[in-house]
Amino acid sequence: MLSEKLELALNEQITFEFYSSYTYLAMAAFCESSDLSGFANFFRVQAKEELDHATKLYDYVFQKGGTVILGEIAKPKEKYDSMLDVFETGLNHEREVTKRFYNLADIASEEREHATMSFLRWFIDEQVEEEDNFHSILKKVRRCEGNPAALYLLDDELAARVYTPLNNTNN
Ligand code: MG
Repeated sequence: MLSEKLELALNEQITFEFYSSYTYLAMAAFCESSDLSGFANFFRVQAKEELDHATKLYDYVFQKGGTVILGEIAKPKEKYDSMLDVFETGLNHEREVTKRFYNLADIASEEREHATMSFLRWFIDEQVEEEDNFHSILKKVRRCEGNPAALYLLDDELAARVYTPLNNTNN
């Protein structure tokens, strides 16, 4: 059973994962409008993964006998100055997500909710990958500054990203 505090915090994170998905879909739209369909593909895949994260949390709350109450999803940022701006915003967003999972883990730990601590471990590990992913692309984008041909090569690279659904029952 989840405490009221932990249930509320998990619910807030479900909504935030939807907000992440929404944010990345808006980034995909910006890339598409900028004729960078490979970048757009990268963010479309990212947006789908965020929905999987929301669903994983959703399932867990019910598994623990709790209830899911979805919150309002804020309007995402729609205009960016450049691809650099997009990836800097993306990296900062992922750092915010990491902080939120640390906060959730702190609550679970204070309450000695070991099952939830164990469940959150997957997200904490995942965040290492997410931040690294955004950071490494950000570095590449930085090197493309003032060189549109290089940006198109990176666009081709990002076109190859494929969505793999998360198996929510077996982690
Ligand atoms: Mg996520």
